[in-house]
Amino acid sequence: MTAPTTDRSTVTEDTGVADPTKLAHLVAGGIDLVMRARVMGFPVNALCGHIFIPQQNPDDFPVCQRCSEINDGVGSGTDTVRAT
Ligand SMILES: [Zn+2]
Repeated sequence: MTAPTTDRSTVTEDTGVADPTKLAHLVAGGIDLVMRARVMGFPVNALCGHIFIPQQNPDDFPVCQRCSEINDGVGSGTDTVRAT
């Protein structure tokens, strides 16, 4: 009873809202910021408000829908990078 590996209580498949740690978020600030955050281990702020330390390959995860919507709203002038 020491390994709770199947916590599904926070995942609601009906609305498509998944665990934010299993999504690729969009981070404003460019690839340099994300790379430094990954190497040095400091958190970054995603467009959707999720704060996290980039540690994984974003190609392995679906893009956060909220980040995507917000990015569409601000237009293409913002330098956003996918990070997970
Ligand atoms: Zn997001």
